[in-house]
Amino acid sequence: MILVLLGPPGVGKGTQAERISVHYGVPTISTGVMFRNAVAKGTELGRIIQRYRIDKGEYVPDDVVINAVRERISQDDCENGCLLDGFPRTIPQADALNVVLSEMRRQLLGALNFDAPLSVIVRRFSGRLVCPVDGQSYHVENQPPIQPGICDIHQVSLVRRADDEPEIVQRRIEVYLEKTTPLADYYQQKGMLCTINANEETETVFSNVVEMIDGLRKGSKC
Ligand code: AMP
Repeated sequence: MILVLLGPPGVGKGTQAERISVHYGVPTISTGVMFRNAVAKGTELGRIIQRYRIDKGEYVPDDVVINAVRERISQDDCENGCLLDGFPRTIPQADALNVVLSEMRRQLLGALNFDAPLSVIVRRFSGRLVCPVDGQSYHVENQPPIQPGICDIHQVSLVRRADDEPEIVQRRIEVYLEKTTPLADYYQQKGMLCTINANEETETVFSNVVEMIDGLRKGSKC
């Protein structure tokens, strides 16, 4: 079960991805988390990523992203599938994903498109906090930690992502609208797009997602 999760930054894809991962027992590959962790740990990928302005909302070049995903997707834990959160973000990335999957003799089950008005998304950003150890996301209202401001797992103070500052959020949304919204048409034309109303309670969104995925797994279309 390989699924692409589409939708603007801050729409709640990451939160849903975590729940879908647990429910179906497949890992989430979030390119954003992968890049931030690589930079924080100073790995070879991190040194490459540092050449680009991800803290300012600018995209990493397609070839860098594709190589990183290709490597990650071929690891053993993806044997039963994976969720791709934040990838693909451009048409060339989507084309490259098709090539990688056909080389691996695997197929994409569908593209879940999380949809919400931009005004709601901008509001959601203001409450988002992350764990500095592993990038796990929380939200002061929608997904609060047990102790306010503290990571449930690592017991360290949560921080705001550098790219969640309001002027950078604006830029991220612009880049998204320009480069990533065409992907909805791309998957629609392939009959693979399943749009989900993300402007609802996390629980409601999740049960709609599960219904959709179960349908796709039984062979129905969105
Ligand atoms: P995210 O956590 O998905 O919001 O990603 C954070 C940042 O990482 C983005 O604003 C981009 O700068 C970079 N990034 C993540 N995934 C991609 C991708 N598929 N293509 C290009 N840049 C990406």
